[in-house]
Amino acid sequence: MKSSSLLIEFQCPQCGAPATLEETDRLFNCEFCRVNSYLLSRVYRYVLPDKASENRELIYFPYWRFKGLLFSCVSDGIKHRIIDVSYQAFQSPYFPVSLGLRSQTLKLRFLSPEDEGYFLNPDIPFEEITHSIKERFNASLPKPIFHQDFIGETLSQVYAPFYVDGKVYDAILNKAVSQQPPEDFNPFALPGGAAEWRVRFVPAQCPRCGWDLKGQTDSLALNCDHCNSVWYPGKEALKELPFVFLPEETDQITYLPFYRMQADVSGIDLSSYADLVKLANLPKVIQDDWTEMPFHFWSPAFKVRPDDFLRFSRNLTLSQPQGKGVSEFPKAQYYPVTLPLAEAIEGLKLCLANFMKPQRRLFPKLQEVKIRPKDFLLVFVPFRESGNELTQPDYRLRIDKNLLRYARQL
Ligand SMILES: [Zn+2]
Ligand SMILES: [Zn+2]
Repeated sequence: MKSSSLLIEFQCPQCGAPATLEETDRLFNCEFCRVNSYLLSRVYRYVLPDKASENRELIYFPYWRFKGLLFSCVSDGIKHRIIDVSYQAFQSPYFPVSLGLRSQTLKLRFLSPEDEGYFLNPDIPFEEITHSIKERFNASLPKPIFHQDFIGETLSQVYAPFYVDGKVYDAILNKAVSQQPPEDFNPFALPGGAAEWRVRFVPAQCPRCGWDLKGQTDSLALNCDHCNSVWYPGKEALKELPFVFLPEETDQITYLPFYRMQADVSGIDLSSYADLVKLANLPKVIQDDWTEMPFHFWSPAFKVRPDDFLRFSRNLTLSQPQGKGVSEFPKAQYYPVTLPLAEAIEGLKLCLANFMKPQRRLFPKLQEVKIRPKDFLLVFVPFRESGNELTQPDYRLRIDKNLLRYARQL
């Protein structure tokens, strides 16, 4: 399954200049007024533009759009797939069951209270959609499924325009859709009303020192190189994220960001490095002081293809990188944080499943395992540039730069 990316028509919140954003963009740098804005909303709501004649009364029908990776722990290992789907967010037989290709060929815009038309209220909660997604994709998996996680998902609502003229018409193609509704079908009697949502943004300025925050367009964490701090989107405002760089003196270095997480684990013994060695069945003789050594989960803090996600997470968690980090931005290049911390936290059990060995014997225990995160650190790990690859010999990691670029759209 290929992953698609939406394009969104946008106006600078500061000066109103028109711009086009990609779905994954968070940091907007206005070409005209030079002001940086940061998009803060959790679940974005978009509207597809209509092509109906002026006199039509438009009905906007809501869809859930979901993109992300689905990992499933089954008896012969961890299976994964890239999911890119849309579902009705309001159950009705008279509207198309999914967005189809509409959202990929047209530029969308953010929903706003200025939008005219009748917007149906979504009545299917997102939890039901995740259930449907699992049902659909689990059919081909061996049973039982011991654990499943969605990672790196983008969840949004897309409203598509329709009108009724005897039949329901798609107001983009001006074509009748689906089955004939009953004669008294009145979509304006369905729960709905005016659009009320508006995209949220904040000025991309350091909450501590007021300096302009830096990042790439799809950065989820922004940097202040004035007071050496990193900020990521909280519910209402930007929140600080502690970070370190593992310094490397060599030239030709790119730093990749990872989340290092400490957590309380119950249901299985995992509180020290000694426990990790046992659980991962590592060929090492356990030293006395390992029972006192804390253990950390590691996860990529950037979007990456599912097999790379698993490999990066496993190699770093098994290596438990030590060394003194520096809380200061280096001169070398560093790669943006494009995976939310919340996603890495959701993936903790997957991270555990990913290194435990033998999986066949240990996977059935996953159901009883509970993991409570308690401490996070963003760690930038140095990778060497060699041709088109980034390599990290200490942790036996390498990645192709083109694959990394491609994964930004996931
Ligand atoms: Zn502007
Ligand atoms: Zn600052």
